[in-house]
Amino acid sequence: MFYLGIDFGTSGARGVVISLEGNMLLEVRYPWEMSNEGNLTTCWQTALFTLLEQIPSELRLKIKAIAINGTSSTVLLCDAAGKPVDAPLLYNDARGAVMLERLRNVAPANNTVLSATSSLVKLLWMSLQPSFAEARYFMHQADWLAFLLHGKLGISDYHNALKLGYDVENFRYPEWLEELQIPIHLPKVVTPGSAIAQLLPEVAAKFGFREDCLVCAGTTDSIAAFIASGAKLPGDAVTSLGSTLVLKLLSRTRVEDARYGIYSHRLGNLWLTGGASNTGGAVLRKFFTVAELERYSREIDVSKYCGLDYYPLLKTGDRFPINDPNLPPRLEPRPDNPVEFLHGLLESMARIEGRGYELLQQLGADKLNRVYTAGGGAANDTWTAIRKRYLKVRVMRSDNTEAAYGTALLAMRGVEES
Ligand code: ADP
Repeated sequence: MFYLGIDFGTSGARGVVISLEGNMLLEVRYPWEMSNEGNLTTCWQTALFTLLEQIPSELRLKIKAIAINGTSSTVLLCDAAGKPVDAPLLYNDARGAVMLERLRNVAPANNTVLSATSSLVKLLWMSLQPSFAEARYFMHQADWLAFLLHGKLGISDYHNALKLGYDVENFRYPEWLEELQIPIHLPKVVTPGSAIAQLLPEVAAKFGFREDCLVCAGTTDSIAAFIASGAKLPGDAVTSLGSTLVLKLLSRTRVEDARYGIYSHRLGNLWLTGGASNTGGAVLRKFFTVAELERYSREIDVSKYCGLDYYPLLKTGDRFPINDPNLPPRLEPRPDNPVEFLHGLLESMARIEGRGYELLQQLGADKLNRVYTAGGGAANDTWTAIRKRYLKVRVMRSDNTEAAYGTALLAMRGVEES
């Protein structure tokens, strides 16, 4: 039996089919086109069904379960039939910021909903638009796409629902949220990966899936990528060395500190805690081409400390592991030799990474045990060697970095372990 994971990320949609052993059997893609800014939900729908069509029919017949991940905080309103009543608000849409003041009066200080892009501020903003009159259901991107497959409205998972204010510790919406009395169906929240229903018979028949193929609750794109990495024990972490530096550490304890933008997702009976720094690959790209990064990195002597202490940023301010909106980029002194300069940048970022993991542990997270690495910087063996020295634990590449793969694993575990 096989499992299908579908990822709706920022650059496109992907599907991955895996076996029960976790082997990747097929990957299909649907890139977003820049010109495709018309009707977003129609575009998502087309992407979803085009991905399904690309799966060879002999594989489709063996798929036992499907799950979908979406970008966190991409949300929309639907009518009683599940038809979107307006354009969705994307993850980075901050129009809801005008609602923050109202929310500060009711939500507990430091709650994750108190951000300009949280799902709840988006819902409050949407509730003031004319289209709200027709709206019955509030849904996340992943919920709506899964609805197209199983036909059930008003169901979400507790990864997507965290930024809506859902209480993942007690599995309910908190009282302060109920008291807002927003006249809409908030989603019923279930465990990510758990089976929701069988595929709609018409979808199963049209695409040649099994009648009993299950559609499972989804997750968010970054949690899906974490699951794909191979990290699974307390103390396991994933560092993403992309444009920015993102740390995630699996822990038996929940860690929250809004000052540093640290919060925790529930992952099975563990907590996935983490933070994001503005340092990272974007700063490297400001000074070097990718070819230069590769060439100069090979010339670095990793057995030596270069002694340069930078805080590489593109612009003023960081949140984690230093919470200071006025923190200036520190990139001096700059040696003439580009190899030395790069050495200083990589070492400094490794130091910031180490400090980030230390902060998570100081706040109560489990002791760091091993670090998987994802993102463009994961390919840089010199950097890995430098990071090992600072982190003092095993550092390796993620088994897999595809959110679609992590989502397929989630569907498999949700179905097989329940
Ligand atoms: P994102 O998805 O966050 O934009 P990616 O995971 O695609 O980022 O990674 C892109 C980043 O990887 C770039 O900012 C670049 O600096 C960095 N990068 C690419 N190649 C290397 C390399 N050989 N060494 C270090 N960093 C690299």
